Amino acid sequence: MSQLYADIIIDISHEAIDKTFQYKIPEDLEDVLEVGMQVFVPFGQYNKRRKGYVIGITDRASFEIDKMKEISDISDKSLKIEGQLIKLAFFIHTNYGSTMINALKVVMPVKERINKKAPAFITEAPDFNMEQVDSLNEEQNKIVDEFKQDFSNGIYKTYLLHGITGSGKTEVYINCIRKVIEQHRQAIVLVPEIALTYQNVARFKQYFGDRIAVVNSRQSKGERYREFERVKAHEVDVIIGPRSALFAPCDNLGIIVIDEEHDAAYKSDQSPKYHAREVALERARLAGASVILGSATPSMESYMQAKLGHYKLWQLSARPKGAALPDVSIVDMREELHLGNRSIISSELHNAIEKCVEKKEQIMLFINRRGYNSFVSCRECGEVIKCPKCDVSLSLHDNGFMMCHYCGHTERKPKECPKCRSKMIGGFGTGTQKVEQEIRKLFPNAKTLRMDKDTTTRKGSYESIINQFVNRKADILIGTQMIVKGHDFSNVTLVGILLADISLFSNDYRSGERTFDLLTQAAGRAGRSDKEGRVVIQTYQPEHYAIATVKKQSYEDFFDMELSYRRLMKYPPVYNMMVMLITSGDYDFLVKESENISKKIKTFSEEHVGIKIIGPADASIVRINDIFRRVIYIKSDDLGRLRKIRETFDNYEQDGISIMFDVNPVNMY
Ligand code: ADP
Ligand code: ZN
Ligand code: ZN
Repeated sequence: MSQLYADIIIDISHEAIDKTFQYKIPEDLEDVLEVGMQVFVPFGQYNKRRKGYVIGITDRASFEIDKMKEISDISDKSLKIEGQLIKLAFFIHTNYGSTMINALKVVMPVKERINKKAPAFITEAPDFNMEQVDSLNEEQNKIVDEFKQDFSNGIYKTYLLHGITGSGKTEVYINCIRKVIEQHRQAIVLVPEIALTYQNVARFKQYFGDRIAVVNSRQSKGERYREFERVKAHEVDVIIGPRSALFAPCDNLGIIVIDEEHDAAYKSDQSPKYHAREVALERARLAGASVILGSATPSMESYMQAKLGHYKLWQLSARPKGAALPDVSIVDMREELHLGNRSIISSELHNAIEKCVEKKEQIMLFINRRGYNSFVSCRECGEVIKCPKCDVSLSLHDNGFMMCHYCGHTERKPKECPKCRSKMIGGFGTGTQKVEQEIRKLFPNAKTLRMDKDTTTRKGSYESIINQFVNRKADILIGTQMIVKGHDFSNVTLVGILLADISLFSNDYRSGERTFDLLTQAAGRAGRSDKEGRVVIQTYQPEHYAIATVKKQSYEDFFDMELSYRRLMKYPPVYNMMVMLITSGDYDFLVKESENISKKIKTFSEEHVGIKIIGPADASIVRINDIFRRVIYIKSDDLGRLRKIRETFDNYEQDGISIMFDVNPVNMY
């Protein structure tokens, strides 16, 4: 056997990760040494005995072998928490393709000193409907009992909790976590950032008091670091946060809960493009912990695993407070136009709003604008104003400025068309603002609130809008997908969904799934307490299965149809798909190089059957910030094969070209 070498870091912190030192692995340690283990090494001029962590094992020496020192011994064979996190980084590195150093930077928190005491997460206690639930219902009880029994017996599984909206999933999480804490172990609860509201956190506070830590993206790095330190010091039992909370240094982890597990926010938006759900399963495996995935609309991935028997499927089919699921009706907006109604509000929705306001009940109007923005165009010549650096139209904002959502380029909206000089230039596309104006005109006596990107930029503004609505300071809440998730407003009895089908138009294989999720979640806001709920969906495509199955409120029907589509098209989760995004500042060069790369992969695929290559082709947005983008899609039923292809490009260096990989992407490029 040839000599093996270990890459070792001495000081384990985010800031020092770049400093690795290579040591020879003595023969007697070759079989036992693993990535993540703590070792003793001779260090520095005087060969001081220091502790270090193994972050990589290789047969390639990175400097002169004669001068290389040898590892003295292993200090601890059991994986300490640091070791587990290093292993997790290694998992990210091998599965999603990034350097080990970059993967380590994902899992290690950034130290940052904080001098002032950070404000507590909950500053003003909102007046939520927060009576403590002490009688779980029968369905909930059965599930919690099963979990307790498994956990007591040291059986750690992955459970998929499929519960309709408002079925009390949070109570199930809380009661399972209580069991975990009884056994002196810790819990990580992941929520999509947007669902990290006072309301959710307050429910956990109610049960776990001060023994919870909360992280969110609005905190400074120092604030987050402090929360992680509290976890390490065992001052807390539960840590709640978005995907980065997954890397909390719990050294006695017993459970990871992932709420709204289908949410696309669990996929990292920068390289390494890891999926928090997949990494959570690995972390739980390393720690010997259980995982609960919860959703009213599980991801295709998780539901398929449950159907295959790999996850234990739990169902919650009723709302505990006795409320029935809302009555859903679909309005065909083409008909509406035939009948002469040119308003963005159908007559059915109009009547429903009127009745609701009369009864002093509340209304939510959800404008589906996923992947859609209002742009500025000329009514005379049709010119659309585009970003000078990207191939996208500029989005019109409140303040009269237009902005590129890809590079940040901002300019004032012109007074006349730059092409034909016509003054008939203006914003197009139905925005939340426009809906608000129309609603105010139609219902002058109703008070409205609006929640979207523009009204929630200030710190605390999001919470303030929610608070006002909870305290019934407004009748109608108008908003984008921000208003859809997680909220539990007991006085909302009507939900109106405008432009329901717009999210179907993106060229994305997940658009059906995303539309079904959004509409189901939105519909689920209506009638959550004892009052009956009603949902009106306005669409131009009532026959589309993603919309028709929402009316039936049948996840199963949707899943079956969607799965057969994925199977037919060889898309995830039936197949694995890897995107290779190739970019360059020079388009012609990029075309040539992407052809070369594709040829290289094709040679590979001749040797390895079962690979399908699509492209190279221009990405759906060809140019962002003056960088051109082309894509190659590679499909296979075997993830290992895709990894091999990726590894052949690990050391690929070509001036002026960069390559990024995304395995099983949540959006197309
Ligand atoms: P989900 O997350 O499944 O949409 P929630 O966990 O938000 O649903 O629960 C919806 C509402 O039902 C909450 O107000 C919660 O306090 C209440 N609830 C949950 N379980 C029970 C129960 N067993 N009895 C009475 N109310 C319950
Ligand atoms: Zn014009
Ligand atoms: Zn731009």
